[in-house]
Amino acid sequence: MEKYSDFRSDTVTRPTEAMRRAMAEAEVGDDVLGDDPTVHKLEALAAEIMGKEAALFVPSGTMGNAIAVKVWTRELEEVIVEARSHIYNMESTHLTFISRVNPRPLPSWRGAMDPDEVARNIRSASVHTPRTSLICLENTHNNWSGAIVPLNNLKAIREVADRYGVKVHLDGARIFNASLASGVPVKEYARLADSIMFCLSKGLSAPVGSMLAGPKEFIDQARRVRKALGGGMRQAGVLAACGIIALTQMVERLKEDHDRAKKLARAIAELPGISLNPEEIETNIIIFGLNHPRWPIPSFLEELKRRRILALPVTGGIRFVTHKDIDDDDVDRTIAAFQELLLN
Ligand SMILES: *Cc1c(COP(=O)(O)O)cnc(C)c1O
Repeated sequence: MEKYSDFRSDTVTRPTEAMRRAMAEAEVGDDVLGDDPTVHKLEALAAEIMGKEAALFVPSGTMGNAIAVKVWTRELEEVIVEARSHIYNMESTHLTFISRVNPRPLPSWRGAMDPDEVARNIRSASVHTPRTSLICLENTHNNWSGAIVPLNNLKAIREVADRYGVKVHLDGARIFNASLASGVPVKEYARLADSIMFCLSKGLSAPVGSMLAGPKEFIDQARRVRKALGGGMRQAGVLAACGIIALTQMVERLKEDHDRAKKLARAIAELPGISLNPEEIETNIIIFGLNHPRWPIPSFLEELKRRRILALPVTGGIRFVTHKDIDDDDVDRTIAAFQELLLN
């Protein structure tokens, strides 16, 4: 039976052989009691790579973001989020559910909010209004088709934050994709944020886990919140071992994912019914519109599935994501399927 070409997400990657071996051999302890050496090693490595004082291993990116918001905010406060951001749209409302803060979504172009508009939306506490305490940024931007948010835009928003005494949290689930594709070192991005979350479990192919990095005092508090949310893990070294491999062996190859995404985008952009500007595909996510007389989106996805090609619908379109377990053959047969279905 032919394999599935699974473009649903870069979270579907299976652990590498090296990760399987590292799991088997990992030295472990009880991380909630603070004595898992492999978790310590991963946290030190993550902090060093990000140029932050400390880092915390968390079970998911969502928990990493939720903890960051919880630590940086109090009730009766407001958080500026980008309107299409993951933190605002895809994390089951933890801003309100866990942190009890008001999200204030602002529009953007490809993830880059206008710094002046951010400044205009920062509010000070009054009997009517919440105090703005945090700005959340995302890079690369998932729902903007993996767009790289330009460094200059992030710098300008950092300046606004400093002017008003507001913290900045960066959802860097795919910060290594942004860095490789832009040439900007991850430390440069991280430097502009008070805290950064990034995922080990996406393109970097670890089975589980994300990292939260920031000042030591912030991470100390984050560790307490992680426990309160049920995210304290015991012999977590078996997972951290994969994270170490993700950070030391899996970063450079993300380039291949970007190349394959570009190739796929260029080929399908020309087909009837597809709205997609391939020049806007900068990393590993392709979001396109489909408006074809014979193929409503659900039937098109069904037909692809019959051909063992998987992708997910998004608002107004379809999303394809490339990753370690997508090779040239997956891309080629997907292009062929698109041509066959849309051209005839
Ligand atoms: C996937 C993702 C997250 C959350 O990660 P999970 O590990 O799935 O909870 C956060 N932000 C962005 C931009 C993501 O793509």
